[in-house]
Amino acid sequence: MFSCTGRLVAATAFRPMLTASSSAAVTSSVRGYRSPQSDAFYNEDHKAMQTTLRKIIDNDINPYVDKWEEEGIYPAKEVFKKLGDAGLLGVNRPVEFGGLGLDLKFNVAMNEELGNIWCGSIPMSVAVQTDMATPALATFGSDKLRKEFLEPSIKGDYVSCLGVSEPGGGSDVAAIKTTAERRGDDLIINGQKMWITNAFQADWVCLLVNTSKEQSAHQNKSLVCVPMNTPGITLAKKIDKLGMRSSDTAVIYFEDVRVPAANIIGK
Ligand SMILES: Cc1cc2nc3c(=O)[nH]c(=O)nc-3n(C[C@H](O)[C@H](O)[C@H](O)COP(=O)(O)OP(=O)(O)OC[C@H]3O[C@@H](n4cnc5c(N)ncnc54)[C@H](O)[C@@H]3O)c2cc1C
Repeated sequence: MFSCTGRLVAATAFRPMLTASSSAAVTSSVRGYRSPQSDAFYNEDHKAMQTTLRKIIDNDINPYVDKWEEEGIYPAKEVFKKLGDAGLLGVNRPVEFGGLGLDLKFNVAMNEELGNIWCGSIPMSVAVQTDMATPALATFGSDKLRKEFLEPSIKGDYVSCLGVSEPGGGSDVAAIKTTAERRGDDLIINGQKMWITNAFQADWVCLLVNTSKEQSAHQNKSLVCVPMNTPGITLAKKIDKLGMRSSDTAVIYFEDVRVPAANIIGK
C-alpha cells in the first residue's frame, strides 16, 4: 500500500537555518499534492521544514490513512506528539511558549506540505489546532493562559478544538446562543456546539460564547479556554460523515460548566 518515492532526510526536529544538504526537494508521491508554486517560491529553510514534515507524513500517517478513514477516527494524540516533537505545531507562534517564532510563510509552507496527507481530515484536524483554536490565544491570551493551554498544544501534549458553530449559528456566527454568565470570579457556560472537529480527543476547547445580553450580537462575544474534562460537558454524538472521516466531529453540550473568568482570551 505504501511506497516512498521522495528523497528524505532524517526526521529531526525542524529548526531554521539547517544546512542545504538537509533540505533536498521532496518529490510528490502518487497520491500526494503537487504544489503550483515554482521551486524558487520557498527558500532552503522552508524546504527543510517541509522535508521534516514529509518524513512524518510518509512514515507515520499515510500508511495508516485508509484504515483510519474506514474506522472514522485517527490517533490525534500520537500524531500531534510527533508533529510537536518536530516543532511543527507552532512554527509562527511565540518562542516563549515553545513556538519557533517564524513568519507566516513558514505556516503557509507547512499547510501546503500537509496536502501530501492522503485525506482531507488530518490536515483539517492539524489546522484546527495550529490555525483555529490557538491563534487568538497566542496573540491576546494572558501569560498564565498561554502557559496552561498554548504551550502544551505547541508541544503536542494537548489536542485542542474550536467550538464556534451551533445548529442555529454556522455561517451566521453572530447568531450563536451559547452563554457564559459571570458569577463572582467564574463563568457559568450553557449551550451547545455542533460539528466540532477533534472534540472526542481534545484536552481543551477554544469556545465562542455570548458574555452579555445587553450588548449587540456583534459586540457580546468572547473566546474562552475550557478544559474538556470540566463537569457539565457532554460529548453527545460522534457524527458519522461521508467524507473527512478520520477526524472526529462532535456535538457538545454545556450544562452549568464553571470555569474561571480569567480563562477569557483578551478582554
Ligand atoms: C467536517 C466539518 C468539520 C467542522 N469543524 C468545525 C469545528 O471544528 N468547529 C466549528 O465551530 N465548526 C466546525 N464546522 C462547522 C462549519 O464551520 C459550518 O458548517 C459552517 O460554518 C457553515 O455552517 P452551517 O453548516 O450551519 O451552514 P449554513 O450557515 O446553514 O449555510 C448553508 C449554506 O447556505 C449558504 N449561506 C449561508 N448564509 C448565507 C448568506 N447570508 N447568503 C448566501 N448564502 C448563504 C452557505 O454558504 C451554505 O452553502 C465543521 C463542519 C464540517 C462539515
